[in-house]
Amino acid sequence: MSKNKSSESVKVVVRCRPLSRKEESNGPAGGIVQMDLRLGQVILRNPRAPPSEPQKTFTFDAVYDSSSKQRDLYDESVRPLIDSVLAGFNGTIFAYGQTGTGKTYTMQGLWLDPEKQGVIPNAFDHIFTHISRSQSDKQYLVRASYLEIYLEEIRDLLDPNHGNTRGLELRESPETGVYVQDLTSCVCKSIKEIEEVMNVGNQARAVGATDMNEHSSRSHALFLITVECSQPGPDGRKHIRVGRLNLVDLAGSERQAKTGVQGDRLKEAAKINLSLSALGNVISALADGRSSHVPYRDSKLTRLLQDSLGGNAKTVMVATLGPAPQHYDETLTTLRYANRAKNIQNQPRVNEDPKDALLREFQKEIARLRAQLNHRRFRSKQKKEQVDGEAWERDGDEEEEEVEEEEVEKEAEEFVKLEEQRLEKENEAIREDQFLLAEEKQKLLGENEKMMGDLRKRQEATEQLTARYKAMESKLLVGGKNIIDHTNEQQKMLEMKRQEIAEQTRREREMQQQMLIQDEEAVELRETFTSLQQEVEAKTKKLKKLYAKLQCTKAEIKDVNDEHVRSRQELEQTQNELTRELKFKYLIIENFIPPEEKNKIMNRLMFDPDEDEWKFKNITRKSSQMKKRPASAVGYKRPISQYARVALSMGTRSRYRVELPIKNIACITWNLIYLKSAVKYVIQLCNLALVHISMKAENIMLLELDMTPPNTSALTDGEQNQSPTLNNSPTNNKGICKSRSW
Ligand code: ADP
Ligand code: MG
Repeated sequence: MSKNKSSESVKVVVRCRPLSRKEESNGPAGGIVQMDLRLGQVILRNPRAPPSEPQKTFTFDAVYDSSSKQRDLYDESVRPLIDSVLAGFNGTIFAYGQTGTGKTYTMQGLWLDPEKQGVIPNAFDHIFTHISRSQSDKQYLVRASYLEIYLEEIRDLLDPNHGNTRGLELRESPETGVYVQDLTSCVCKSIKEIEEVMNVGNQARAVGATDMNEHSSRSHALFLITVECSQPGPDGRKHIRVGRLNLVDLAGSERQAKTGVQGDRLKEAAKINLSLSALGNVISALADGRSSHVPYRDSKLTRLLQDSLGGNAKTVMVATLGPAPQHYDETLTTLRYANRAKNIQNQPRVNEDPKDALLREFQKEIARLRAQLNHRRFRSKQKKEQVDGEAWERDGDEEEEEVEEEEVEKEAEEFVKLEEQRLEKENEAIREDQFLLAEEKQKLLGENEKMMGDLRKRQEATEQLTARYKAMESKLLVGGKNIIDHTNEQQKMLEMKRQEIAEQTRREREMQQQMLIQDEEAVELRETFTSLQQEVEAKTKKLKKLYAKLQCTKAEIKDVNDEHVRSRQELEQTQNELTRELKFKYLIIENFIPPEEKNKIMNRLMFDPDEDEWKFKNITRKSSQMKKRPASAVGYKRPISQYARVALSMGTRSRYRVELPIKNIACITWNLIYLKSAVKYVIQLCNLALVHISMKAENIMLLELDMTPPNTSALTDGEQNQSPTLNNSPTNNKGICKSRSW
């Protein structure tokens, strides 16, 4: 399956948006971000630092300033990646940055303005144009899925019930890597269809307003496009290549205090920050190269991006910045993240002939339907020729086959028509025949009617089969067929020129960066001096340079420390928030849930290492453990009902004066017990949900609960034995302790 197995680093590009109107009106401070497009450098000015402090410089694969066009970014940094996906590689583009810096603008842009369309619409256009221009022996199947990670749950944005159902589960397979189970996937035949899929998902996306961005995305969104391409290989067999493209629009990495959020929004922010810090940890671990453990499992986001970061994928990260001075800290953090991500090495390879290729299934089904259809048609044709008295011979030539197929279809239709006419005529002749008895006539007419019915049924079945066949076939896109834009040669040339220019710019930048590095290294070279004066001058220059470098490094160390302290404070704040919530839930558990119920629930807890979370075992009741109905108390005096007692005291002869047999009393008692247990069970279910939510909500759960075996009570005698034993689970009898660091 693997080909081209070589490693390549994650491409990191940085984009800075223009100052917003609100920021401009805040003061004349101007932007703090400067960009050198030629060198691919970002120069960041600290608005709080004295002018003597050196500015911070970061170098990336490409940088785009506030005047950059969507098209420039696409042609230069995204187009090569989409080309790789079309060739069968996995590809990921993700936008990372503070809220309101242009992640969604970069990924989606303004759909109605062709100049301002973002990466996603441009990628749609690119993919379908490529398919229409490819050779006619290629067959494509394009599928799209759309999901979001909201409050650490994966939601299928194409499922109309996604808000009501439980989050989807992540699974891992050696073939496809990490994938989402039961995710809706729509086959798309055109740009219009895939855009519609995107629109449906966008409407379902969780969006909430914060102070920093009115339409802030409150979730991480992932649009997944799978392009399967089948092409005959040199061995004559059809080979399938599968390229998967992840288009990721992350939620913002805002500071909670700055966004002015509270309540649910604060909870969202906490989750977003947590998953982003998990992403940061993964990036750090990968960039470091020395750490043996990469914490992919710390969040759903990092698990989903597992292949894109350090795995089988080509990845482009677009780090977005805002130029406003008040966001200096966040801008610096984003740049540091991006700078670290440059060091991540991926091992992309072409996915060839994977077992789960849907295209193969489609091809098989189409071939089956076609064979079925041909069989039917040829049978009709044969019959017609028998009627006509012609001999029928089948020609095996492929090219002629299609022409012949049409001919056969026509002939089959003709045969049906002729047969109908013939039967009609026969019917008429039978009706007019005066020598036949009425009974015989009826019989013959009946036979003909039956034949006509069969004929129609066969015809209907063939039509249904044809419709199914055509529907299946239409889902496969064939290269060279949709050649509307082939006519527009000029546009094609223009695109190629643009691509060439983009490639040239990229290479030029790379060379400039190389030269810069070599320049710096040249300082180290031994120099020869003609006079002492010259040596002093050269060494002073060198000293100055090194001193400036030292200052930069010192400032860097201070910054990193500050950042560390800041992020620790933030995490502490989040932890406090979560601990408070946890305490609140404990309070509910301690005060409203009977201890034996709590223990029963705790006994059912088990740790699922695949899912990396705590789950409940199902209650399985063996038949021997079934509760027995209480035996009736033999010998007791039969009690009478309250009503009967009252009626008796009143002296009326009441038909209600029935002394219930003890058996019945026992029955009622049993029902009461049952009712009570049912109520308890409902309470238990509610509690289960509550505890479950609390566990899922806090990834850092710290449970130290009493796990002594549950007390036996009269009503729950049998249940004590019914709880599964948990010797192997991490929840042994001493108590549960789940703690996680993030
Ligand atoms: P994010 O997704 O990062 O929270 P948005 O993409 O929603 O931010 O952008 C916030 C605002 O900034 C939007 O109104 C958007 O139109 C504008 N914007 C972002 N980037 C640019 C850009 N490069 N050029 C012009 N406007 C931009
Ligand atoms: Mg956004």
